[in-house]
Amino acid sequence: MVDLIPEYWYNVIPDLPEPLPPPMDPPGGADSSIGLLNRILPRAVLEHQFTVERWTKIPDEVREAYANFGRPTSVIRARRLEERIGTKARIYYKYEGALPTGSHKLNAAIPQAYFAAEDGAEGVSTETGAGQWGAAVALAARFYGLQSSIFMVRSSYEQKRERRALMEIFGAEVHPSPSELTGFGRSMLAAEPGSPGSLGAAMSEAIEYALARGWRYLVGSVLDVVLMYQSVIGLEALAQMEELGEEPSLIVGCVGGGSNFAGMAYPFMGAGRKARFLAVGPREVPKFSAGRYEYDFPDSAGILPMVKMLTLGRSFRPPPIYSGGG
Ligand SMILES: *Cc1c(COP(=O)(O)O)cnc(C)c1O
Repeated sequence: MVDLIPEYWYNVIPDLPEPLPPPMDPPGGADSSIGLLNRILPRAVLEHQFTVERWTKIPDEVREAYANFGRPTSVIRARRLEERIGTKARIYYKYEGALPTGSHKLNAAIPQAYFAAEDGAEGVSTETGAGQWGAAVALAARFYGLQSSIFMVRSSYEQKRERRALMEIFGAEVHPSPSELTGFGRSMLAAEPGSPGSLGAAMSEAIEYALARGWRYLVGSVLDVVLMYQSVIGLEALAQMEELGEEPSLIVGCVGGGSNFAGMAYPFMGAGRKARFLAVGPREVPKFSAGRYEYDFPDSAGILPMVKMLTLGRSFRPPPIYSGGG
């Protein structure tokens, strides 16, 4: 199926009405956190993060891996849902859940693991909340012969044992975060023994861990580059809708970090399609309605550069029902 996989990723940046505010070093910080990205991201990922090109060639090895794991994914008509809600609309969904780890996250994990292997790294680290991103990284790392260490938010680590088992089956080491393995984790545990952890804290630990080993850190959702890797969803869907003779009038997606929505919607925007685009967020994390658009830190320790985003503030804690961050 390799010939059905797009040959290029789409980047929305050059099509924006105005340039995006760039990542920024925190004012008064001693070390450059943007410089830090140089040391933790695979070289090609860093390049892709700052590219202003509309199209980036997908390496053949990555296209083959996409095909190997089940791309292109199907577009399926939701007839029973249409009947149930009594609509005349024709509703289609693109079934990313068919990928082996159960979500679209593999689309971004595969290229990052490939580029880490290309750099000669021995291993990769990352954070995970519910375990979806961690499972994708574990599988992609294994596929390219890399070790992987996944820092899993402790409350999820305890609630979602099956996800943890899945990552371990793929050969990953899974650590509950905060852990004793990093300075940041130890300081958190000292301040709050039995801390349930958070995604931002797990991110800080994963970065510290990669830095100490000369490994690479794989980005789940904070940096724009993930949206480009996810564009395979929308690029495939464009071709599939054309084949079906349909022109979507409304494109809907759920938003956690924004990657599946962007992956689906941006290629349609880039192709000049006149659809309505609807991003849906959970009430428990009301970024769209109550968030402020300002520079904030993606991780709790403030290691990564600040990014301008809709933020509820660094101290916001979602209720336990929300397993944010994949
Ligand atoms: C991670 C995840 C999300 C939310 O993340 P986005 O970056 O917004 O796509 C939504 N659905 C599933 C199944 C996920 O794994």
